[in-house]
Amino acid sequence: MENQQQSIVAMIPSPGMGHLIPMIEFAKTLLLHHNLSFIFIIPTDSPPSTAQTTVLRSLPFAISHTFLPPVTLSDLPPGAKIETIISLTVLRSLPSLRHSLLSQTATVTAVVSDLFGTDTFDIANELNIPSYVFFPSTAMALSFSYYLSQHLHQNVQCEFRDLPEPVQIPGCVPVHGKDLLDPAQDRSNDAYKWLLHHTSRYKLAHGIIENSFLELEPGAINELQREEPGRPPVYPVGPIINSDSGRTGNHDCLRWLDEQPRGSVIFVCFGSGGTLTSAQMEELALGLEKSEQRFLWVVKSPNDKATNASYFNAETQANPFDFLPKGFVERTESRGLVVSSWAPQTQVLSHGSVGGFLTHCGWNSILESVVNGVPLVAWPLYAEQKMNAVMVSEDVKVALRPKVGENGLVEREEIASVVKKLMEGEEGKKLRYRMKELKDAAAKTLGENGSSTKHISELALKWQGKASSTN
Ligand code: UDP
Repeated sequence: MENQQQSIVAMIPSPGMGHLIPMIEFAKTLLLHHNLSFIFIIPTDSPPSTAQTTVLRSLPFAISHTFLPPVTLSDLPPGAKIETIISLTVLRSLPSLRHSLLSQTATVTAVVSDLFGTDTFDIANELNIPSYVFFPSTAMALSFSYYLSQHLHQNVQCEFRDLPEPVQIPGCVPVHGKDLLDPAQDRSNDAYKWLLHHTSRYKLAHGIIENSFLELEPGAINELQREEPGRPPVYPVGPIINSDSGRTGNHDCLRWLDEQPRGSVIFVCFGSGGTLTSAQMEELALGLEKSEQRFLWVVKSPNDKATNASYFNAETQANPFDFLPKGFVERTESRGLVVSSWAPQTQVLSHGSVGGFLTHCGWNSILESVVNGVPLVAWPLYAEQKMNAVMVSEDVKVALRPKVGENGLVEREEIASVVKKLMEGEEGKKLRYRMKELKDAAAKTLGENGSSTKHISELALKWQGKASSTN
């Protein structure tokens, strides 16, 4: 007699919110049409943040979660990079991950880990469970991952940032070494070793789930889908975006947007983790003022040491308003609104009054803008954001990228000019038109017969089918 055993998919996100949100959204998308259950098994190095627990507690019944016991990272040097922290957190959580997988009452049909979580493959193999990678970034970054581990690492001796010629990642626009992702900027740092470790293990996965879509990145996706020995299938399932901006409290900004003319406001936000130096924050304020455009700016307290200072905790410590230039809020109050720390970004971007987005180029932010057809000012800060900025400005052509001055700052005149161009200029019109085309393509690929929907169904069938057994 055919008996459908209960099955469950184990999702292993990295610590922090940046990768948790898209993995949750992916699970929710699968649930829409398929009879599956998920458990998020979350490695940690400290107690869960309020942001994490709030999001996880609001999920449908079919998505449960458990936090693994926090690991100790006290032996890490003070300046350890995010990639090292995440990778070691996962590595040191493997015993408790094994325990958690073994204690599931349902059959675990797949382990889906984060791009820095490939060490989970070993446990999955041991338990005979297929493993997948959820890649929450561009197909370009995935193509770079293969290129790095199979070619660049062996054939280039110097730092990539010192290469005289741009790097030609297969299927992508050429990128200068200095614009490659952060952990590739210093090959002597542990973060680079971890990058290499994970990228060379992607080939061991049963599949890679890529949060992008063909019309957005045709070159890279075609390249990745070319069959090649030692490369697992790639499933482009995007654009999967945050359907719920979660934290409330700043919804006043939506009411403020209601009062602004259509398409007139530029939204300024550097993601959950992005921070500026105090000097840069001042230039940005004065640049926005000088642009004479309407703006909605999510400010965080500046940090003069790191560009990702609030990655693990999106709430800024001090009152960010204290760091704005004197009189700025009063002088701009007729056309600008400044909110502290967090705004409901997806709701903001879908609001008719928003006509542009000055973004740190986090991939989720870019996808959310694509889905809503909002053109960009690309202001990358960390991780793979500089590569993303090159892609959206030079390849996809939906963004303007301001120049960084010799003093390392984007100066107020440059900011004013780029913002004005985007919101009022002819160039801005072209970018808006192109973004509209991508918005339509995004809706289509996620529609009933769209290619992302097909890839999602293919995965769902695999993950459901494995649980069938004959008694
Ligand atoms: N986000 C938000 N409000 C904010 C800042 C960020 O809702 O004020 C959300 C945003 O919609 C996106 C995510 O946080 O879903 C940020 O992800 P992204 O990949 O853009 O950048 P990261 O925060 O990982 O650097």
